[in-house]
Amino acid sequence: MTKIGLEIHCQLTKLASKLFCSCKAEYRNAEPNSNICPVCAGLPGSLPMLNKKAVEKAAMISLALGCTIPEKIGFFRKNYFYPDLPKNFQITQYNAYGPTSIGSDGKIEIEGKTIRIRRIQLEEDPGRLVYEGTSEKTMITLVDYNRAGTPLVEIVTEPDFETPKQVRMFLNVLADLVENIGVSDPYLEGAMRVDGNISEGDGNRVEIKNVGSFRDIEKALHFEITRQQSLVERGIQVLAETRHWDEARRITVSSRSKEEEQDYRYLPEADIPIVQIGNNSIEQIKTQMPESIVARRERYIKKYGMPAQVADVLSSDKFYSDLFDKSHNEKNAKEVSNIITTDLMGVADTREKKIELKITPNHLSDLADAIVANKLTRNSGKLALHEMIQSGKPFADVVSSLDLGHVSDAGSIEKVIDEVFQEEEKAVMEAKQNPDTINYLVGKVMRKTKGKADPATTLDILRKKLAV
Ligand code: ZN
Ligand code: MN
Repeated sequence: MTKIGLEIHCQLTKLASKLFCSCKAEYRNAEPNSNICPVCAGLPGSLPMLNKKAVEKAAMISLALGCTIPEKIGFFRKNYFYPDLPKNFQITQYNAYGPTSIGSDGKIEIEGKTIRIRRIQLEEDPGRLVYEGTSEKTMITLVDYNRAGTPLVEIVTEPDFETPKQVRMFLNVLADLVENIGVSDPYLEGAMRVDGNISEGDGNRVEIKNVGSFRDIEKALHFEITRQQSLVERGIQVLAETRHWDEARRITVSSRSKEEEQDYRYLPEADIPIVQIGNNSIEQIKTQMPESIVARRERYIKKYGMPAQVADVLSSDKFYSDLFDKSHNEKNAKEVSNIITTDLMGVADTREKKIELKITPNHLSDLADAIVANKLTRNSGKLALHEMIQSGKPFADVVSSLDLGHVSDAGSIEKVIDEVFQEEEKAVMEAKQNPDTINYLVGKVMRKTKGKADPATTLDILRKKLAV
C-alpha cells in the first residue's frame, strides 16, 4: 500500500512585514538584496522581534484546520548550513518539550476521507539562490536575501493519503481555505510549496522536496510510486533519501541522503521569549475569522436553494463568492449564482483575469433582475455580460447600445413569424405533419430577432398558427 504525507509551506502574503523584523514581507518586485536589514541578513548581535500579526494569522490557519492551539508557544533553532540561510539556522517551531508550535492534532475532511494534521508551525523563509544558466551547469550562484525572514506557516500532515489525486484535491481545498481566511494569496509564485513523503508497504520513506505547483507534485508522486514499485518487484531496496522533481525531464532525481531530525540539532531560540496565547486571544481571533467555506456552502444551499454542485463551486472561490454575496437580492440570488458559475467563471478563471474584470455587483444584480423579470433572454444576457466585463458600462446603457431589449409582445413576434412562414413553406408543411420539427421554425424566429424573441411566446404563437 502507498502511504503519502505532506509538508506544505504557505507564505503569509497578506502581512506587511517579515516575521522577525520590519522589512517588507512583499519581496517579489524589489532589487536583489534591497529588502534586508541586520536581522534578516543574520548579522551578529542583531535580535529578532516576533511579528504579532503573523502569530494571529498562523493561529487562524490552525483553527481552520481543527488544530489545538497551546497556551504558550515557543521557537527553536533548526541548524543547517546552506548559502540561502544567513544565520546558519532557521527560526522555526518544534514540539520538543510538549506542544509549543501554533497548532497540533487537527483534521480536515476531503470527500469523505479524513486527513489528519500533525502539526502547524510558524517559521521564516530562507533567501533565494539564483543560478546563472541551469543549476547543473552553472559556475556562478547568486544569493538574494530579500525573501529571508518572510513569514511562513508549515503544515505537516500524517501519512494519510493513498493516491496522488487525493493529494491534489487536498491541496486545492487548502489553497481555497487560506485564501478564504485572508492570510495568503496561494496563487502567487512560490506562495505554496509542497514536500511529499512517500513509501510503499514497509519500505523506506523518500522525500520529494519543494515542488511549486500542485500539478507537478501530483506528477512527481505518480512517478515516484512507479519507480518504487518497480524496485520492489525486482527485489531492490528503496533508499531513504531526498529527491527533487526535475520539471523538464518529468522525473524525480536523487539529491542527497535524507537527514534525520537529530541532524538539525534543534535547540530553543533564546532570543524570543515564550509567548502566552491564552483563551482570551484565541476567542478574539475566532471572532476575526470570516465565514468558513463549509458554512458558506450550507448557507447557499439552505437559504437560496442552490444545487449542491453550484454551491460547492461558488463557495470554494473566495473572489466569486464575495461577488455573489454583494450582488444578489432576495429575488435574484439563484440567477446571480447561475450567471457567475456558468458564464463568468468560464471567462475569468485565473487571478490575473479576475483582476481585469470590470464587472461590479450592480452590473450583476441588474442583469439578473432583468432575466428574472423576463425582460431579457439568457442569450441576450450573455451578450450584455460580456460587454459589461470589458467596458464596465452600466447595465441599462449596455442593453440600449447593443439593442438587446427583449421582444415579448405577441404582435411583433407574430409579424416575424409571418415572415418566416413565407420564406419557409416546406418547413411549415413539415411541422404541421410532424410537430417535432417545430424547433427549426423557432430557430428561424430567433435568428431574425437576434435571439431577443421570448422563446415561450414564440412557441405558443407558432403552435396556434400551425394548429398543432
Ligand atoms: Zn529585515
Ligand atoms: Mn519548514
